[in-house]
Amino acid sequence: MSRDLLSQLNPAQAEAASHFEGPALVVAGAGSGKTRTLVYRIAHLIAAHDVAPNQILAVTFTNKAAAEMRERASHLVPGAEDLWMSTFHSAGVRVLRAYGEYIGLRRGFVIYDNDDQLDLLKEVLGNLPGVGPDANPRQLRAAIDRAKSNLWSPDDLQRQGEDFLAGLPKSTAVEGYRRYQSRLRAQNAIDFNDLIVETVRLFHEVPAVLSKIQDRAKFIHIDEYQDTNGAQYELARLLASRDRNLLVVGDPDQSIYAFRGANIRNILDFQKDYPDAQVYRLEHNYRSSAKVLQLANKLIENNTERLEKTLRPVKLEGHDVQYHRSDDHRGEADFVAERITRLRAEGMDFDDIAILYRTNAQSRVLEESLRRLQIPAKIIGGVGFYDRREIKDILAYARLSINPSDDVALRRIVGRPRRGIGDQALAKLAEWAQKESVSLLAACAQADEILDRGASKAEEFAKLMGELSDAVEAYPPEGFLRIVMDVTGYIDMLRAEGEEGRGRLENLEELVVAAEEWSAENEGTIADFLDDAALLASVDDGRSKRENSDVPEEAITLMTLHNAKGLEFPAVFIVGCEEGLLPSKNALMEPGGIEEERRLFYVGITRAMDRLYLTSAQNRMTYGKTVATEDSRFLEELGGGFETIDEYGQKVEYKKSSWRHSRPTVPNVPQQGARKDTSPMTEGMAYKGGEKVKHPKFGDGRVLAVSGFGDKQEVTVAFDSVGMKKLLVKFANLTTT
Ligand code: ATP
Ligand code: MG
Repeated sequence: MSRDLLSQLNPAQAEAASHFEGPALVVAGAGSGKTRTLVYRIAHLIAAHDVAPNQILAVTFTNKAAAEMRERASHLVPGAEDLWMSTFHSAGVRVLRAYGEYIGLRRGFVIYDNDDQLDLLKEVLGNLPGVGPDANPRQLRAAIDRAKSNLWSPDDLQRQGEDFLAGLPKSTAVEGYRRYQSRLRAQNAIDFNDLIVETVRLFHEVPAVLSKIQDRAKFIHIDEYQDTNGAQYELARLLASRDRNLLVVGDPDQSIYAFRGANIRNILDFQKDYPDAQVYRLEHNYRSSAKVLQLANKLIENNTERLEKTLRPVKLEGHDVQYHRSDDHRGEADFVAERITRLRAEGMDFDDIAILYRTNAQSRVLEESLRRLQIPAKIIGGVGFYDRREIKDILAYARLSINPSDDVALRRIVGRPRRGIGDQALAKLAEWAQKESVSLLAACAQADEILDRGASKAEEFAKLMGELSDAVEAYPPEGFLRIVMDVTGYIDMLRAEGEEGRGRLENLEELVVAAEEWSAENEGTIADFLDDAALLASVDDGRSKRENSDVPEEAITLMTLHNAKGLEFPAVFIVGCEEGLLPSKNALMEPGGIEEERRLFYVGITRAMDRLYLTSAQNRMTYGKTVATEDSRFLEELGGGFETIDEYGQKVEYKKSSWRHSRPTVPNVPQQGARKDTSPMTEGMAYKGGEKVKHPKFGDGRVLAVSGFGDKQEVTVAFDSVGMKKLLVKFANLTTT
């Protein structure tokens, strides 16, 4: 068995995969099989050394990668379902849910996402003496995030230099951090970084807990180690401190998260931290064609701060890398869409194709061009499913039901729908709550002592929330969510909003579906579902609508270069190869910024297995203005290792930034009128939502939501007999009553 396993690796990989005890570092370039080796190492531990799967931990950076790893391992050995495979953050949630009470976290604590954080920071800044109304909560957030990623308390931050204050005066940053933290705790909430910071604190303060977790993590693996920050580093160090079986894999050339506090030194200094570490190097790239790899190698040589590595192609030459510069961003998007249609005609699946960009804002124009050519696309990240207003609202209701101290959630939903509790009343309630050290919801419950007018409205609201709290344990997540949507009047509010409301209703229906899917795989209440949703929403692999529909559709993938880490696709488009975009404007001003952007471009290039296209636009609309652009310096560094083509695919000569089409440059005006919006929402619909209907089998019901159009139109109907059902209109034989 084990021999079979190792025979699927090359000798260097096999040596690393058969590493048994003690610390080890696998350092190698992109596509050299690091992740593959890590998975085989896990399988080998089980098959050759009889290590129990429930003593193995593997940490990766996204939920998607963790799921893929488990999947790959399950093909190799039995028992893969007992492996602990997770992101740093979900590992933190798991530990804190079980043992957080040892360090004063109360049961039912909630995890705040970026927006919740900002809401709270606004409040904190508003109450800080000497801070003007223009103080930016984002700056404070940046300072706090940076501090937490280094495990610094407010006192520690006090001792740091200017560089770590995100431009704020030190007193504002330090005092803001202090107050933010105490408000978080008062609301029984933690933020994302706390998932790591608090776990580290727990391990330090309660060694018995650490030891228990160590029993579950005798063999520890970390993928993408180059992107760990100080807090994650410490977490890994603590976990490995007893058994010392820590195997990390990474590539310093792919370190792209310095802006979030990742420290490339963690991988470079691994041998200092573990002098007895075995070091394995892999030198063959199995992923990319020789031409793609050559380009990647050429680019990364321009970085000065690096560990020299060899990376040789295993694959043949392959296709030429192609570069196209169009007149404007629309032309660029059209070019990409047309190329994709061609690739498809040549027999490539949509699933094999990815478009990578520097910023999420670039996706909109691409989406439009893709839609025109009817190319199905899924977007990873961006304004993800869980970032949508209606989703956040309903989840905020759920949070407040679980944790009545969650003032941020209360403020979010108290006026959605309107219930006659105005800003003034809320301010009074908040003042009282602060004085009495109770939650806002508790203040609402006693409103008649606090408010002169409208007290009954606040009390009604408190009563409603009380009833929802009672329902938390009694229903599965999907049932609970339906109750929330219904009894709070949220659905009625959306129904009254017409077209826009309809889209939002669909999203809510999708949320119920997501909860159902979750319940099919997990046990637990809405509280457990919320934990997972919080992780999904914030880690970079947000779910898109198409991803969770019943019929998995083939689609191309759109995402940022950051999100593409670790993935691979037969065909890759990297768009927006321009100064100010890639490298980004901000990078130009930061020390080490250009090198980090170059690594990001390197990550992008090395995702491609066979076809690689680079594009830029001569003129680009940013912030509502069309501006002329300049080619990315990185293109020049590639030293002509690509072919330049025009929009018809004909080879032309590359001239930096000055190459033009025969078409005159009229930025932004052309053809706009001709672009027909073909989104399903504008097509005629048989059902609008709200109709009373009858079904031959289920009887009477009411249409709650409508999605799709034509033959694919689906309705969600609440039947009196069987509850909610999603039906294809074409086959449902519904009659309106
Ligand atoms: P990255 O740095 O991008 O994370 P990586 O080093 O983790 O890359 P993998 O994703 O593990 O690389 O491997 C890249 C591709 O090469 C995968 O498709 C993998 O299955 C394939 N591969 C790696 N090693 C071998 C091998 N020995 N035989 C066949 N295929 C291999
Ligand atoms: Mg990898």
